[in-house]
Amino acid sequence: MIHPSNPAQLIDRFGRTVDYLRISITDRCDFRCVYCMAEEMTFLPRAQILTLEEIYAIAKAFAELGVKKIRVTGGEPLVRKGALGLLENIGRIEGLHELVITTNGSQLETMAVALKEAGVKRINVSLDTLDADKFKAITRTGDLQQVLRGIQAAKSVGFERIKINAVILKDRNHLEVGNLVQFAVDNGIDISFIEEMPLGVVDQHDRSDAYYSSDLIKSDLAQHFSLVSTIEKTGGPSNYFRVTGTQTRVGFISPHSANFCSTCNRVRLTVEGRLLLCLGNEHSVDLKQVLRANPGNMAILKQTIIDAMLIKPEKHEFNIHEQPVILRYMNMTGG
Ligand code: SAM
Ligand code: SF4
Repeated sequence: MIHPSNPAQLIDRFGRTVDYLRISITDRCDFRCVYCMAEEMTFLPRAQILTLEEIYAIAKAFAELGVKKIRVTGGEPLVRKGALGLLENIGRIEGLHELVITTNGSQLETMAVALKEAGVKRINVSLDTLDADKFKAITRTGDLQQVLRGIQAAKSVGFERIKINAVILKDRNHLEVGNLVQFAVDNGIDISFIEEMPLGVVDQHDRSDAYYSSDLIKSDLAQHFSLVSTIEKTGGPSNYFRVTGTQTRVGFISPHSANFCSTCNRVRLTVEGRLLLCLGNEHSVDLKQVLRANPGNMAILKQTIIDAMLIKPEKHEFNIHEQPVILRYMNMTGG
């Protein structure tokens, strides 16, 4: 029996405490980034995805089980109708310390104020290049200026922290890393570089050829910046460095070159309501089915989540040199 004032903790077989949930609230997106999606995508029919009420119920169950941080992502979370109301409701859940989002920034210009008011504390904005043509080529449909205006809007609203996420691909944007760090420094924000993960089949590049390791990025940056390693963590997989003499932290998310699984504290809720225990494996539990079979029954939902910890795998099985074994795309999973 779980007592509300003494929340149970979610602990897996390897002794890791899960206190961070990422939720993909939509698989849809106004961009088609080359590492995330194929050019032609079929999105899920509405009946197959969680309703906003179902997402809220699951978020609440997790908070009651000790989860302190929720990241709302997608697809592009801000294109889902009702996203703001959902964020507001999640932001009010007792016991939750942090509500954060990851966005491509396309809607920030108009939504930044409302997001802050809804209780969003920190935001991650994806930005892989500052070159308008490269930006168009990578996102296929995105407009760099719109995203830059969105970042300025977010800055003026005063979020606790804004971080750029950049996926670096060899010969596509690897020469941009210095400019991106300078942009972060000039704007007093943080930046994380992400090694591409083999999720779903992409059609524009070979992921093995495009691999550009965090170590290569670090040595490129060392020519222009002084980076000092820090032990600062923000609850995610980034390893951080400080740019000497600035506010900016530079993080590296390195699934291939520096495995972070031993300290994994997170699980993901896919847009279809699958509780995914690891980004790089298919171990999952169908929470949508549990919710729809037992409407309003939080006890069963919570017990299912507790039991799911038993199948959280020890580590991801990514291998960019092989055909992807994981056919789900990042937009369904929630990056
Ligand atoms: N649409 C939002 C955005 O782009 O920020 C949120 C969803 S997106 C899937 C979340 C993050 O995952 C982005 O920073 C994106 O760059 C990253 N991402 C997408 N596909 C990826 C992949 N195959 N490998 C590594 N990161 C990926
Ligand atoms: Fe959309 Fe984000 Fe995927 Fe790009 S990375 S296609 S913006 S969900």
